[in-house]
Amino acid sequence: MAILDELKSIGKTLREVDKIPQYEQILDVMEKLIEMQKRISDLELDNKDLKDKLQTKDSLVHENNAYWINKDGQKDGPFCTCCWDDHQKTIRVQPAGNPAFCTCPKCKNTVKVYPDRDNPPHATQFRSTSFQ
Ligand SMILES: [Zn+2]
Repeated sequence: MAILDELKSIGKTLREVDKIPQYEQILDVMEKLIEMQKRISDLELDNKDLKDKLQTKDSLVHENNAYWINKDGQKDGPFCTCCWDDHQKTIRVQPAGNPAFCTCPKCKNTVKVYPDRDNPPHATQFRSTSFQ
């Protein structure tokens, strides 16, 4: 960084001419500058994280007890509603035995995501024979 290089150069000169109190002032300023650079870097990361979450929030669609993201004409998901609503994390839910249900691997929330799959063959058979 140019400012740090300039401060180092000034510090070196001050040390060479035995201006120790001024040299120590330059060292203090350099330390504060490095702390400020770290703080700016941390804030930039936080800002990027918040922008990413805002972009995700804008693209979330709630459907069948889960969130979905429409991206480039493709539907991505399902994602856990609890994890997003509580922690703004897009956690992909996983199949949970019954093909109609999915479970979040993080919070263990189980929801019916695919209601059309909740139709076991024996139930269909029962319905079709019950009218005879
Ligand atoms: Zn969850």
